[in-house]
Amino acid sequence: MLCDAHCHFFSSRYLELLTQGTPAAVDGDVAAAISAKLGWDPPGTPEALADRWVAELDRHNVGRAALIASIPGDERSVAAAVARHPSRLVGFFMFNPAPGHVRERLEPLLADRTLRAVALFPAMHRYRLDDPVVADVFEAAQSSGAAVFVHCGVLTVGVRKRLGLPSPFDLRLGDPLAVAAVASRYPSVPVIVPHFGAGMFREALMAAAQCPNIHLDTSSSNSWMAYHPGLTLEAVFRQALAVAGPERLLFGTDSSFFPRGWHKPVHDTQVAALAAANATLDARTRIMGGNFARLFPAA
Ligand SMILES: [Zn+2]
Repeated sequence: MLCDAHCHFFSSRYLELLTQGTPAAVDGDVAAAISAKLGWDPPGTPEALADRWVAELDRHNVGRAALIASIPGDERSVAAAVARHPSRLVGFFMFNPAPGHVRERLEPLLADRTLRAVALFPAMHRYRLDDPVVADVFEAAQSSGAAVFVHCGVLTVGVRKRLGLPSPFDLRLGDPLAVAAVASRYPSVPVIVPHFGAGMFREALMAAAQCPNIHLDTSSSNSWMAYHPGLTLEAVFRQALAVAGPERLLFGTDSSFFPRGWHKPVHDTQVAALAAANATLDARTRIMGGNFARLFPAA
């Protein structure tokens, strides 16, 4: 079964939280106005957006997908989507541990297991991965059986750029080696580093070699390859298979808004690269869905 480990749930609430208090703020129906500005379809209610996602997954024969609540405070939108389609959708949510009180804030979000992964963006929220607040995230994940997703490497948020929102990210804070330092202390917590480390491919491989609980997702166009002269996606897959192995690679697209919907070209490019890399059927089956199903068994 094809599973997509990396999609963003751009809800109405997401657009409200993203723009409130910024120069892009608007009055009235914020989600509709911002969607119009972006050329997106308005997301509507979380339930309506969840239905649209499932129809889109059906259209492409995708069995299940992870949907990320992509700004702190939007967890409820993804929880509502998952509650509506528990056999199809897996909830991830962006969380900023920097303000502290991590366990008090996280435990209620993880308690009923509707949300299955905490997504950290240290470069965006500007904290170090060896800060004790990050260990608190891993503690909470460990006790509730959740995974931790840590964005490393280059970070560009397309929608922020298009709306002219400032993005003062400190990329030094998203280092896969710093992920390994904390992940190695919580071996039962599955950890996902997206986009093969997004430019820190060597460090992501080193981290995966060090920590059996670190997984890499394959999502997006992987335009970070531009920082490695001559690197191809085929070579990336070959190297990742050699170091992390087929059990720790998770297919993803980084799909987000409608009407674009599920980003099939990303899928097709990865399938071709895996074939070119001579990945076995077993390896491909694991990468394209088996590993996701193991980490996030259907409800
Ligand atoms: Zn993403």
